[in-house]
Amino acid sequence: MIYLDHAATTPVPRAVADAMYEVLTEQFGNPSSQYPMGLEMKRRVEVWRKTVADALGCGAKQLFFTSCGTEADNWAVTAACWQNRHLGRHIVTTAVEHSAVLEACRWMERQGYEVTYLVPAQDGSLSAEQVLAAVRQDTALVSCMLVNNELGNIYPIAEIARGLAVKNPQTLLHTDAVQGFLKVPCSAKTLGADFLTISAHKIGGPKGIGALYIGPRVRNPKPLLAGGGQEGGLRAGTEATAQIAGFARAVELRRENLEEKLLCMAKIRDYAAERLSAIPDLKILSAPGGAPHILSASLVGWPSQNIVNDLGSQGVCISAGSACHQGKPSHVIAALKLSKKVSGGVIRLSFGPETDKGDIDACADALRRHHDTRMPML
Ligand code: PLP
Repeated sequence: MIYLDHAATTPVPRAVADAMYEVLTEQFGNPSSQYPMGLEMKRRVEVWRKTVADALGCGAKQLFFTSCGTEADNWAVTAACWQNRHLGRHIVTTAVEHSAVLEACRWMERQGYEVTYLVPAQDGSLSAEQVLAAVRQDTALVSCMLVNNELGNIYPIAEIARGLAVKNPQTLLHTDAVQGFLKVPCSAKTLGADFLTISAHKIGGPKGIGALYIGPRVRNPKPLLAGGGQEGGLRAGTEATAQIAGFARAVELRRENLEEKLLCMAKIRDYAAERLSAIPDLKILSAPGGAPHILSASLVGWPSQNIVNDLGSQGVCISAGSACHQGKPSHVIAALKLSKKVSGGVIRLSFGPETDKGDIDACADALRRHHDTRMPML
């Protein structure tokens, strides 16, 4: 099988699975238990928290484990609005956020909030000026992703943070960095956001574990789950110790020779762009300078779902936009207002450290066969 869908999820290396297995079967204690096995687990959870926090450039006390990136996104949106409930009921976000942010914003709309959805340029780019121009006196929250999961564009979070500090210092900033963590520069300190979301399964960790960074400007953050006081009393529930162990081990592994891995991924992305460009009717959509692991393209006139199905049956896994929108044009592509023929043929290839040129060749050959043997229908 040729797997080119690392932005959807990634395989878990054996060392990560082993770390989880040990916690599931031997070190299975509850970190809240008061006998040695429980106390040891409590200690180890804090070690694993520090491992992830170090990779994110924040303090361990600022990092809260959640059940996934989606949960962290939801929490950030509601906690920011809660803190700024007296400031106003306006949110600025982008039309190309992951549904985890968009649906949380829509929920806030139903609570009486007004939401401005910024539309990027046709190449997916978005400037800090565009974001800051939408900020008003009553803006409680700006939520802007670090890396777009379908196109790979990197958004200027640090610049937005600096601009907000001047224009409206009380407005809180959240960035969904699920596709940016360990793929592009992603230090909580440097980015300057108040909330930052990450997820383990995009970097070789298990599904079902994410984390939210909460910065110092957030005062008495609104707890997400009330209960037994875990996660500093903000996100109760017995710690998912095996998932947390797997998250930390995946972070350690990914950080080994990280610069080299990112360079390899960028080279693979460029090679894929070159190979795909040779296919008639194929248009590369990803703008230069984006994240190293994502390449968006369109086989103009050929429906993307048919391409995905055909390649899938040949053992090549790619996606039509993001994994969360199978079967219908994604809201990200729709927001770019491309022609029907271009948007209908969008595919996304995404890479991991283990992707090689042979994988790209197999995918390009399968796409070429699809082009040559299937009728365009759009
Ligand atoms: N945000 C972005 C940008 C994503 O790509 C994803 C997953 O695809 C998520 C959030 C959701 O993360 P999770 O699958 O951990 O809920």
